[in-house]
Amino acid sequence: MTGPVLLAVDDNPDSLRAVESELRERYSRDYTVLAEATADGALERLEQLVAEGSDVALVLAGHRLAGTTGGDLLGRVHQIHPHAKRGLLIDWGGWGDRGTGEAIHDDMAHGRIDYYVLRPSGTPDEVFHSAVSSFLLEWSQSQKTAPHTIYVVGESWSGRAYEIRDALERCAIPHAFCLADSEKGREVLDELDGETPLPLMRLPNGAVLVDPSDAEIAAAAGAAVDPRKSDFDIVIVGSGPAGLSAAVYGASEGFSTLVVDAGGIGGQATSSSLIRNYLGFPRGVSGGRLSEQAYEQAWVLGASFAFMQTAVGLEREDGQLRVTLSEHGAVTARAVILATGATYRRIGVPELEEMNGAGVFYGGPASEAHGLAGLEVYVVGGANSAGQAALHLARFARRVTLVIRGGSLAEGMSHYLARQIEGTRNVDVRLRSEVVGGGGDTWLRHLVLRGDDGVEETVEAEGLFLMIGAQPHSGWLTDEVARDSRGFIVTGSEVADDPRWPLERSPFLLETSMPGVFAAGDVRSGAVKRVASAVGDGSIAIQLVHRLVAEEGLDPDPELVSRGF
Ligand SMILES: Cc1cc2nc3c(=O)[nH]c(=O)nc-3n(C[C@H](O)[C@H](O)[C@H](O)COP(=O)(O)OP(=O)(O)OC[C@H]3O[C@@H](n4cnc5c(N)ncnc54)[C@H](O)[C@@H]3O)c2cc1C
Repeated sequence: MTGPVLLAVDDNPDSLRAVESELRERYSRDYTVLAEATADGALERLEQLVAEGSDVALVLAGHRLAGTTGGDLLGRVHQIHPHAKRGLLIDWGGWGDRGTGEAIHDDMAHGRIDYYVLRPSGTPDEVFHSAVSSFLLEWSQSQKTAPHTIYVVGESWSGRAYEIRDALERCAIPHAFCLADSEKGREVLDELDGETPLPLMRLPNGAVLVDPSDAEIAAAAGAAVDPRKSDFDIVIVGSGPAGLSAAVYGASEGFSTLVVDAGGIGGQATSSSLIRNYLGFPRGVSGGRLSEQAYEQAWVLGASFAFMQTAVGLEREDGQLRVTLSEHGAVTARAVILATGATYRRIGVPELEEMNGAGVFYGGPASEAHGLAGLEVYVVGGANSAGQAALHLARFARRVTLVIRGGSLAEGMSHYLARQIEGTRNVDVRLRSEVVGGGGDTWLRHLVLRGDDGVEETVEAEGLFLMIGAQPHSGWLTDEVARDSRGFIVTGSEVADDPRWPLERSPFLLETSMPGVFAAGDVRSGAVKRVASAVGDGSIAIQLVHRLVAEEGLDPDPELVSRGF
């Protein structure tokens, strides 16, 4: 067999022939194309492929099959080949047929299919092939076999090796981790001359970085600060959705724009494996992919980036705003946009804090889910992000248990997610409970759970994802920037009466109590914690910079300077 399998299943012989021949003609150089006329035949073939150790990349199944439905068959495919992508084949216009439309909604809501695909209609059918190649790209990314993958080789999963892969993850750079004594680890090490200290990073161009510093990782990601330029119209702190959106609008509207981030691109969004509610992506988009595209867009429009640079100070000096960076001195700007987001609260159980990266993870499971196939996994948190994480993990883990302090899923989760969780076979929900202990040797092995009746239970667990509330990244800011009681930055009319607001004009909508400094996205008090809202804030902030320019001029006005601006 040549490469991973693409399997077509349809009991309509003409349709099966058409799908098989389209797949064979385009993909047979790299993939093995198989076809089955029945659901039973397909299941038998999939079991055989497991026994042979063959990978299945994609299964396309007709919506109606004798004795079953394509959705049911594709739901079972995941129990046999958890990584396979699954497309439901329908005829053109099928979405207008009530039964087909309902089947698509239901199959997607219950995670039985990834998306639907129109049956090919003659050759060449680029609509069909665009759907197939999107599936194959997603599959290869999930398998860490996409081109241009960076390999990190380390002696253990935790320690610096974890920090490096965390940094790469935050930069949305495709990467894979392998232990030094694994097959792939040995393969990478064998290519190097002599003994090389670990951990190391092998770049797609063959270059090797031994125990790279954050600055080296940033340079590998193509975003070091250009030391020749340190004065910008706008400095954006944070390159999550809010910062990236501000960068796209700022750069495209002619402002010289620098984006600084303590990690890389994408912020929290990169930990979301599938964002299904962002406009324009009907089949959903991973946070990593959305961030990569937004980064590329901002870069092409002329924005500059500085990764692995933490903003540690903000002050006004000689009429300009000055942002001090952890690794690069300082940069100056006429306007600053704070898009620093928020981060999850810590669980505060020392033995679990010690296992961070070795089975215990804060945030979503985008990069770790893969390694938890067939294991017992726990997710703590009652909000949408925890629900999404549980569903994503359920595709790999033996069982996922969602641990929630509250008395019902509905208290903190969207209705559609709560329904999906209730309908997912291997997701359990443990209400009125918390995690109070746990441990293991080199990897998490057990957790201690406590119910609201005080009874403790020790359970087997190899993965723990903590998603327990957000803390804004605003602690580094001067007192001139007013914050609410939880540390979120206050803006607009809410700072108009704050004694710190120094000007006669009213603050603009997203302007903080420090004139010329705006807040956008999750770090802003009252923000809706969604990608779309953060993106909206980013674009509004740039409009407000235009107003600032129109009303006060970008060049420092002597009168304003004397008033503190
Ligand atoms: C697992 C998960 C799933 C989610 N799913 C969805 C979903 O399905 N749909 C949806 O709409 N939303 C979802 N969200 C929420 C969404 O990701 C956030 O609302 C969004 O990312 C907020 O964007 P932001 O730009 O404001 O902040 P962030 O994304 O948090 O980005 C902030 C950035 O600022 C940087 N930063 C912080 N402090 C500093 C500093 N001092 N110096 C330099 N850089 C700094 C950080 O490194 C980070 O990159 C999800 C979140 C998570 C965690």
